[in-house]
Amino acid sequence: MGMSKKETAVRAAKKIAHTVHRSDASLERERLTSLINSMADGVLAIDETGKIVISNGAALNILDINSTLSGRSLNKVLKLVDKNNQAVDLSDLIYKTKTQFSSRDWRLSYQDGSTANLYVSLAPVRLGYGQEGMKGYVLLLRDITREKSLEEERDEFISVVSHELRTPIAISEGNIGNAEFIFEKSGITNPGIKEALKQAHEQINFLSGMINDLATLSRAERGVLQVEPESINVHALLLDLQSLYTPDANKKGLEIKVDLDPELEILQTSKLYAREILQNFITNAIKYTEKGHITVGAKSVKDGVRFTVTDTGIGISKADQEKVFDKFFRSEDYRTRQNNGTGLGLYVTMKLARLIHAQISLDSELNKGSTFNILIPNLQ
Ligand code: ADP
Repeated sequence: MGMSKKETAVRAAKKIAHTVHRSDASLERERLTSLINSMADGVLAIDETGKIVISNGAALNILDINSTLSGRSLNKVLKLVDKNNQAVDLSDLIYKTKTQFSSRDWRLSYQDGSTANLYVSLAPVRLGYGQEGMKGYVLLLRDITREKSLEEERDEFISVVSHELRTPIAISEGNIGNAEFIFEKSGITNPGIKEALKQAHEQINFLSGMINDLATLSRAERGVLQVEPESINVHALLLDLQSLYTPDANKKGLEIKVDLDPELEILQTSKLYAREILQNFITNAIKYTEKGHITVGAKSVKDGVRFTVTDTGIGISKADQEKVFDKFFRSEDYRTRQNNGTGLGLYVTMKLARLIHAQISLDSELNKGSTFNILIPNLQ
């Protein structure tokens, strides 16, 4: 007995539904594969044992390998060295990685002895679906050799230029200082010369500050700044900063107060950077305050010290607060523009803060004043 027309139609429809269902899955797979393959970054997925399960064309290109990577051990194909030419133990790092991790400082060595700078990002993923899904890791690789060499050239240039400029600037500064002194002693009254010398002195000091910022910046960006923790007597540090900056503050009719926690003990961190960070905040506070006072405070907290530099100055608008730590940022406020500045100070400060794991936050109200909070932890 033959099938009725209706039955045949139902069967045919079921068959189509079945094949459509199957080809949906393979279509999805194809789409994903072509998506991964069209990515400009190298992609490698590895399983828990460190074997490669997925790779794309860009990864083959970067690794300079023609054959398939599937099933090969990651350690064998991706041999990386760090800044100090030490081999990077990727498998160790991978098993320790619980969250996403990335580095721009590793190099890949090729068989012919050449190297490439790589950006490597690593994240744990589930390579299968469901509770029992296989666990694994996905690596993104990008060749950043060109970017790196441009960055290095720029930093090298800044570092050489700032170094070369230091000597002539120091000599000019000394000579202008001398000329002012001799002029003072000579008893000649010439307001024109006096003012010219004063201006020259101010400008040369500004130039020397800017060059210091540039030099520190290039060293920080090249990652060659070293942190050498030592024991700091916080009490003595703040009193020292107070006496150092009181003359500058007094010139503007400002006062520098110190607010010390009596419980305060020794802080273990880089004295040089902690001091430089505080100095940057204090000089800014003096610069951007017309009347009132600057208070430098220190409070003992768990595992460190919380410093505050508070001023009664021009304040920073909400919109600008997000930008003050950006490179070369200076507020449009005309009162900012009345002062010399490069917009590098706070950017460098933030770089230094990162080196010693300090956290910085800012509270400010326009026309009322600003407080910069610096939490510096004890380093081992
Ligand atoms: P610079 O002082 O050379 O311009 P900084 O990086 O030190 O550069 O500061 C960036 C900007 O942040 C300043 O130009 C100013 O607009 C603002 N700023 C910083 N400190 C203060 C402060 N204490 N009060 C008001 N504005 C400030």
